[in-house]
Amino acid sequence: VGGASWPEPLDAEVFRTPRGTPYLRQAGVVLLARPEVRLEGMAGFLDGFGAELGFAAYLQDPRLPMPGAQLCKVAGQVCYLSLGPRRTPNAAAQEYLGRLIESGHGSVLEHATYTVLLYGVSRSLTHELVRHRAGMAYSQASQRYLGGATLRFVERPEFQHDAELHALFEARIDRAAEDYRALAERLDAARAEGSGAAASTERRKRVQQAARALLPNETEAPIVVTGNARAWRHVIAARCDEHAEPEIRRAMGRVHALLVACDPFLFGDFRAERLADGTVALRTAHPKV
Ligand SMILES: Cc1cc2nc3c(=O)[nH]c(=O)nc-3n(C[C@H](O)[C@H](O)[C@H](O)COP(=O)(O)OP(=O)(O)OC[C@H]3O[C@@H](n4cnc5c(N)ncnc54)[C@H](O)[C@@H]3O)c2cc1C
Repeated sequence: VGGASWPEPLDAEVFRTPRGTPYLRQAGVVLLARPEVRLEGMAGFLDGFGAELGFAAYLQDPRLPMPGAQLCKVAGQVCYLSLGPRRTPNAAAQEYLGRLIESGHGSVLEHATYTVLLYGVSRSLTHELVRHRAGMAYSQASQRYLGGATLRFVERPEFQHDAELHALFEARIDRAAEDYRALAERLDAARAEGSGAAASTERRKRVQQAARALLPNETEAPIVVTGNARAWRHVIAARCDEHAEPEIRRAMGRVHALLVACDPFLFGDFRAERLADGTVALRTAHPKV
């Protein structure tokens, strides 16, 4: 059973065109946060019931290594006050949570939240991802505040193994980076008013919000995403489906790899399936809990 140690980041290499424009070829995924659980505080609550119910022994059950599964199990057991000796012990947590997932009692899974940083993802990917609203939170790099120094691009999977499409991609992003710089310079020259830090930030914002108009969908858009386990399961099921767009399918596959390493009881029922084009989809019998 995994979950005890913190999963290592799934990093993504940065490449450069011969003219030096940086780009990435897949999503980097870094786990930033997961639940932390401390059950000792329940002692007063448990002791307050009649001693004959045996609730005090609830805290003697050896804890699960996965905080998310532990949290969801406690939440589920409080629903029926199944805290006495006849409750499901932690040793049978996988079956317990499996039953919750199978029966669609997904609200219990909303207690466990996981935060990831995604980089090496394109603006078109994040545009699709942020359509998932329920149980999700986003903070995305702002093209109004960022200038050319941090500009990077993402090469789609389809371009990576085709020499002509790859060359066109490199030429295109060189041109986009150059056009962006030239347009920002021109806009900056046109707005050379004001002084001080606030005026300088405001001026930069006004330059960049206009200059970004020419950036393509394949511009990188780093984003921090928090989701509860129920919402993440829905996103993974929808975006790792064979009909999903390949870039987001691959990126969400990497997110799933980190989440399943964190908590196999909450995310371990997804199965990989190789598709005719050689890419991989993930499937579960319980896509919407
Ligand atoms: C393969 C694919 C193709 C797509 N193609 C298109 C397209 O062509 N055009 C387009 O615009 N979008 C498209 N989408 C986006 C899609 O329509 C959804 O907007 C997106 O997947 C978010 O999912 P969701 O609606 O389940 O919302 P989430 O926010 O992920 O919500 C999860 C669940 O909560 C419930 N819920 C959330 N909000 C509400 C609400 N306001 N009222 C009632 N119930 C709610 C629903 O049961 C919902 O399924 C596509 C998505 C996929 C996966």
